[in-house]
Amino acid sequence: MICVYTTLFFIYGIVFGSFFNVVGLRIPKKESIVSPPSHCTTCDRKLGVLDLMPVFSYIFLKGKCRGCRSKISAIYPFMEFVTGVAFALAFYMLGFSAELIVAILFMSLLVIITVSDIAYMLIPDKVLLPFAVVLFGVRLFIPLEPWWDSLLGALVGFGVLFLIAVVSKGGMGGGDIKLFFVIGLVLGTTNTLVTLFLAAFIGSIVGLIVLKRTGQGRKTPIPFGPSIAVAAVISYFWGADFVAWYGNLFY
Ligand SMILES: [Zn+2]
Repeated sequence: MICVYTTLFFIYGIVFGSFFNVVGLRIPKKESIVSPPSHCTTCDRKLGVLDLMPVFSYIFLKGKCRGCRSKISAIYPFMEFVTGVAFALAFYMLGFSAELIVAILFMSLLVIITVSDIAYMLIPDKVLLPFAVVLFGVRLFIPLEPWWDSLLGALVGFGVLFLIAVVSKGGMGGGDIKLFFVIGLVLGTTNTLVTLFLAAFIGSIVGLIVLKRTGQGRKTPIPFGPSIAVAAVISYFWGADFVAWYGNLFY
């Protein structure tokens, strides 16, 4: 039965992921998320059901628009797939528990900001703020242990990132700082710090890969949001294991 539900959550995930792509790409451009309906950005052709099936449409259409044959960015099916995996993982780890609500909301936020940050190097307030309010509210009813760890985590997350931004003189975007406030609300203090540690690690690897592939100097700005998102998910599910493992290295 767990298999059936996990698959179901994967399908919910790819469907929602398709919507999150739209939200993440349109909100920073101050466009409506409902109109105009989805269309090809090259030939303006309106997309029908056959074009809009998450992941599968991209595979059937071999990554090309049915109208003008122009290439569709692989980021769309990729993020749909990632959302599917994230939702399935959330259900697999938490089952039908209250915390599953927190996990799904949190994953949704992380997917949307990843899309925005990759596309525009921006984590929009219009996405962060509503999620911050909702997640704050949800954490009142589904609290961490102890309950105030949410508040402390938010303050520590925001504070540490703010300090890094000041010291690095703009090396950290305002969106990243605010994102860490929300991460703190959800994860609490310890796992927020684990997220920061892992994000720095993942970000360095991403930086090295980009550097190798483009051959450009350190001037190329690389969005940090996706690394933070991956780190936050790892920390959300396995933060305590990571702390235990890391502690063992020194004893
Ligand atoms: Zn087209």
